[in-house]
Amino acid sequence: MKDIGFIGVGTMGCPMASNILRNNYNLSFYDPYVSEENKKKLFDLGAIEKSSIADLCIKNEIIISMLPNGNDVEEISLGKDSIINQSNKDLIFIDMSTILPSDSININKKLNEKNIEMYDAPVGRLVSNAIDGTLLIMVGGNKNNYSKIEKILNCMGSDVIYCGKAGSGSTMKIINNYMSIVSNIVTAETLSLVDKSGINRELAIKLMSSTAAGKGHMNLTYPAKVFKNDVGPGFKNSLALKDLKLAINHAEKEGIDLVSGKGVLKTYEAAVEGKYKDLDWTAMFNYIKEINNLD
Ligand code: NAD
Repeated sequence: MKDIGFIGVGTMGCPMASNILRNNYNLSFYDPYVSEENKKKLFDLGAIEKSSIADLCIKNEIIISMLPNGNDVEEISLGKDSIINQSNKDLIFIDMSTILPSDSININKKLNEKNIEMYDAPVGRLVSNAIDGTLLIMVGGNKNNYSKIEKILNCMGSDVIYCGKAGSGSTMKIINNYMSIVSNIVTAETLSLVDKSGINRELAIKLMSSTAAGKGHMNLTYPAKVFKNDVGPGFKNSLALKDLKLAINHAEKEGIDLVSGKGVLKTYEAAVEGKYKDLDWTAMFNYIKEINNLD
């Protein structure tokens, strides 16, 4: 499989397609809104431009898309003049856009009915990683045929991880981004407080890199306690609540509004009102599952 079709050669798609070309694949692309700059970069590496999806699908067995939203992916896969309507019956479609997992599953199901294999394979990391070919790629779809696409994904990423059935790549990507995006604000609030309180920032970062703050609960406190079904104290939730209030109070005196800390305060207060008061702080994992009616 040396012929690849690529749909959407923007900020991420262009360097990703470039890395496929550098690995000696033939690549044609379809992007009606492509910038002149990206077009030139791809032409210089030997790419061919196609003016329709029908044209793109004629020779290529593998079609990759890297588009902004779920409705764009739906349009090129299920819409008029889309992948589902093509006569090439050996198509494998890999969508690398970040979209809602249920959209990935729905598109996969409809394409499968026409015997077109689909993988959701969104990417983690930055544009610089797309340029270097060091993306994290999270793949969902049929494991049996996964080997057919793995080599191509390796041209774009240094970490290609098979996550499970259709939709699992998109699901993993969204979950990872949830944690990164929320902790970004907690990090910004924390370092603002460090700066405003007159603590040396490098010292604070080094210090916090050795605690749950910097190492993360998934790596440090949960494996030691709640993952082992041990939620006896430890560091009690009542004390965690007290310390959270101290931080909010101190920040107020420094003129900093800890918005995310105040949001989390309500959750600790509700847990501490009940049986979680004297349990270890990692028992908050059980509390969150309990209020969401999980196991
Ligand atoms: P972008 O807007 O730069 O590129 C999208 C490209 O798709 C554009 O060239 C556009 O012309 C093209 N396009 C739009 N509709 C099309 C259609 N119907 N047919 C063909 N081409 C079409 O976006 P991007 O930054 O490359 O992001 C693409 C995806 O990657 C998004 O889902 C984004 O969330 C995800 N992502 C982006 C980054 C990043 O740092 N930019 C990092 C990780 C993941």
